[in-house]
Amino acid sequence: MKSARALVVDDDPVILEVLEMRLQSMGLDVALAKSHGEAITLLDERGFDVALFDLRMEPVSGLKLMTAAHERQPRLPVLIMTAHGTIDNAVEAVRQGAFDYLTKPFVPEELRGKVGRALSERRWTRDRTLLKAVGDALGSSGTMERVLDAIAQATVEATEAERAVVFLLEDGRLAPMASAGAAPGPLDDLARTAAEVMDRKIPAATVPDADGRVMLGAPLFVGGGAAGALVVETRVEPTADDLDVLALFSSQATVALKNTRELERLRSGALAALGRMAAQVAHELRNPLGGLKLFAEYLEHRLAKAGDTEGSDVAGKISREVDHMTDLVREITQFGRPGSLRRIPTNLNGLMESCLVLAQARVTSTEIQVTLELDAALPQAALDPREIRKVFLNLIVNALEAMSAGGTLMLRTRPADRGFVEVAVEDTGCGMSEETQARTFDLFFTTKDSGTGLGMAIARTVVEQHGGRMDIRSQLGRGTEVRVLLPVVAP
Ligand code: ADP
Ligand code: MG
Repeated sequence: MKSARALVVDDDPVILEVLEMRLQSMGLDVALAKSHGEAITLLDERGFDVALFDLRMEPVSGLKLMTAAHERQPRLPVLIMTAHGTIDNAVEAVRQGAFDYLTKPFVPEELRGKVGRALSERRWTRDRTLLKAVGDALGSSGTMERVLDAIAQATVEATEAERAVVFLLEDGRLAPMASAGAAPGPLDDLARTAAEVMDRKIPAATVPDADGRVMLGAPLFVGGGAAGALVVETRVEPTADDLDVLALFSSQATVALKNTRELERLRSGALAALGRMAAQVAHELRNPLGGLKLFAEYLEHRLAKAGDTEGSDVAGKISREVDHMTDLVREITQFGRPGSLRRIPTNLNGLMESCLVLAQARVTSTEIQVTLELDAALPQAALDPREIRKVFLNLIVNALEAMSAGGTLMLRTRPADRGFVEVAVEDTGCGMSEETQARTFDLFFTTKDSGTGLGMAIARTVVEQHGGRMDIRSQLGRGTEVRVLLPVVAP
């Protein structure tokens, strides 16, 4: 086991010498400092497990030094050394956060006892109450990514962990899904610990390596088997009690994971069922709508011919409302059956230009500037141009609709990493609130008076069918950027 590190600060060299000898005989690794400045340098350099500060030091007292030390190492147990007979000072020191006090001259048993207790009471878990509160909060679920992030983040915040990583089994491979904390370096050691605790099905800690790093892991059980593990990297050697806390935490994380998985399954199932039903209803509406359109147009002509302009205007309005309903119905039926793709080599630059022309015809905003940054070196991609046109048409129409008061529309294409091309549609329009952003892809979600709430849902379905991905970045009042990544070669 790595020896614990002690820092002793006193302006009396004789005291330093005595304490160095005593503490070394207890198996401690001792660092000495004669002044506040020296002590701070050492505290900035490395972590200590216990510190002994002289109360009376000039010009900065031991209590001030303790405050500075705790700013750097919040959980460092500090023992304040006072001259015999100044018990009031000692009490004040403890009140201000000292672990305990030592009176000079030292009684060997007292020194041994208090330093020993300071070391053994130092815990890996910083704040158990916080840990429990965070665990409870996890019980309310969100998306999978958010839950995993919360688990990693909470672990780092509530413990002495320098890094926490959540691993999940994905297609038989252990993948790091979320990570928090500042420790640098590769994840190999953590992944190994994750695999080990999943195998053994119990929380465990590794022995400290040459740098004094310890890995703690706890398996995450979902549906009978270990679905992953929560692994942390720390420099404080944990007790059995600490492992229990980690196990408690991982079991709470497990509940959150289970809830989220179920919720996601439910959501997608309900969505699919709703889509099928909507498609059927829409289909039934198509023929009557066609009839309505014909009658309205006939009426419009007839009234116009008879000189009844008011009447023909109303008929014209009916006709346009019917058009809107027909659009809606077409979108719903398309959503219901995505159909198979007919991929051909497609020039996305040309496609973007033709979508822009179409979209501009649909939206009557004034004062809109358009900038195109279409990379001429963009490779052709294997896409179904009819389907993909729907995607960008929807995105551009949304962008234009967001800029009813004018603005700039930017369309960009560029080759992206790993055989993908990226198309971005950006506007300087109204942007989205967080709530809107969370729901944009929901079927029938719209914030517009005459919106269908289908555009984004359709766009995402088509992009995903192609093996691509969509990302939205939006700021309320500033604008929105939607990026679409599409594979060059069919996956
Ligand atoms: P619709 O346009 O018919 O309302 P969509 O599915 O296309 O339906 O979009 C859903 C919602 O997402 C919109 O009502 C709007 O609130 C929001 N949205 C989509 N694109 C943008 C954008 N570029 N800027 C601001 N909000 C947007
Ligand atoms: Mg739309």
